[in-house]
Amino acid sequence: MSESVKHCIFCDLINGAGEVSICYEDSSAIAFMDIQPVNLGHVLVVPREHFESLSDIPPELAMHLFEVALRLSPVVRRLHGAEDMNLVVNSGAAAGQNVFHYHVHLIPRRADDGFDIPLPFEGSTMPDRTLLDAMAVRIIAELRDPVRRQIASRLAAVGA
Ligand code: 5GP
Ligand code: ZN
Repeated sequence: MSESVKHCIFCDLINGAGEVSICYEDSSAIAFMDIQPVNLGHVLVVPREHFESLSDIPPELAMHLFEVALRLSPVVRRLHGAEDMNLVVNSGAAAGQNVFHYHVHLIPRRADDGFDIPLPFEGSTMPDRTLLDAMAVRIIAELRDPVRRQIASRLAAVGA
C-alpha cells in the first residue's frame, strides 16, 4: 500500500495486526470470516497486496480471487446447510464499498434471512430496445478496437 493511501484495516489483518479468522491462504490470496456476517459462513476473499477496487486490481488476480471463492463456495454451502449463495463485489463508494481493499463477498443464503440485493431495481424503468441495442453496439466496438479502448481508459483515468 502506498504512503498516500489511508490506513487499511484489511492490510492490518493480513499483516497479523488484528484478530481475524482465516479459512484459506495462498501466496496471493487470503480468505477470512466477515466480522459482521449476513449469515454465519460469510467469507471475504481478499488479495494479500493492497488494491482498492476493480479499477486497479490486475485482472489475473481478480480471476484468482474468484476461483478461490468458487472453491470455498461448496464447502461453505455444505457447512451452512444452505444451497443458495451470493457472490458480491462492491467496487467503489457509489457501489456500496466500505472497506477500500478489494474483496469478494461469499454469502451463504437462506430464503428467510432478510438480506436482499433487490434486482431488478424497483426505481428503474425498462429502456427502449433501441437504447439497449445502442449500448450493446458501443461495448462491442470498444472491445474490438484496442486503440479506442486505450484512449477511453486514459480519458477515464483523468476523469474526462
Ligand atoms: P464492503 O461494504 O466494503 O463491500 O464490505 C466490507 C465488509 O468488511 C463488511 O461486510 C464488514 O462486515 C467487513 N469488515 C469490516 N471490518 C472488518 C474487520 O475488521 N474484520 C473483518 N473480518 N471484517 C470486516
Ligand atoms: Zn489494504
